[in-house]
Amino acid sequence: MPRLKTSFAVILSIVLLTVAGCASGGQQSAGGKVKVVTSFYPLYDFATQIGGEHAHVVNLVPAGVEPHEWQPKSRDTQRMVNADLFIYNGAGFEGWVRDFLDSLKPGEKPVIVEASDGIELIRGESATGHHSDEEDGHEGHGTEYDPHVWLSPLQAIRMAENVKDGFVRADPDHKADYEANFRTLSDRLQALHQKYEQSLAGARGKEIVVSHQSFGYLCRDYGLKQIAIMGLSPDSEPTAQDLKRVRQLVRERGIKVIFFEKLLSGKLVKTIAEDAGAETLVLDPLEGLTPEEEKAGADYVSIMESNLQNLLKALQ
Ligand code: ZN
Repeated sequence: MPRLKTSFAVILSIVLLTVAGCASGGQQSAGGKVKVVTSFYPLYDFATQIGGEHAHVVNLVPAGVEPHEWQPKSRDTQRMVNADLFIYNGAGFEGWVRDFLDSLKPGEKPVIVEASDGIELIRGESATGHHSDEEDGHEGHGTEYDPHVWLSPLQAIRMAENVKDGFVRADPDHKADYEANFRTLSDRLQALHQKYEQSLAGARGKEIVVSHQSFGYLCRDYGLKQIAIMGLSPDSEPTAQDLKRVRQLVRERGIKVIFFEKLLSGKLVKTIAEDAGAETLVLDPLEGLTPEEEKAGADYVSIMESNLQNLLKALQ
């Protein structure tokens, strides 16, 4: 009997050591909280709100960084491997995610959530007014589908629900809290969706000129059309022909506002706008916060609300 006790104690201390070792191998222990890793800002926002006090959420792409070109470093991979819940957008947005998921061994898998799961995706080429018969050089960036689902408040509700389901799978004990937090968030998103629907239905104009082709879902769900200066990824430099086409459209349609993004240089947009006698305003694709927005406590809903204000200015 005493022997058995000893070996139990030994086993227990080994288990405890192993647990401690695992926790310090990744980031600091989350203090009994569900360790969540999200790939970019909107998912971080949703996960923080839904996870509430039970979650410790780490976002991979830091504030001020444009995520299309971001790649995980070994520290990031370590965080993902050690997470209880890993949430990414999918639809080709995170070019690196396939390799990461393939590298996971069966036993160590965190619960995985592809937030865009179940959303009807827009094919890469039909997402735009781009007549891409000029050349097909815009490939190789996983642009089979338009990944920018989060920019439609309607689709954001679905994404938040997927995030909530992930929490319930990773930590079923707190299901009721996750459900309640999700309802609070989805009420806010629902109200945002209605605001978009009602105010954009009354807008005079329907065409917007944007920097990179990220508003396909917003346009589809609220009856607008985007004219994009760049492709689905902001690294696809516009050709001289693209620029000529945009300038022409802006003049022909009497477009008064050209939108720019805070995480990209606005130089190109400003040049085109000056040429065409148009104004520039921000339309934020919410691929990340700027450090100032982060400090000011901005979130998905507040930024989407200022996006709507600027859309209405441009379309009146
Ligand atoms: Zn984008």
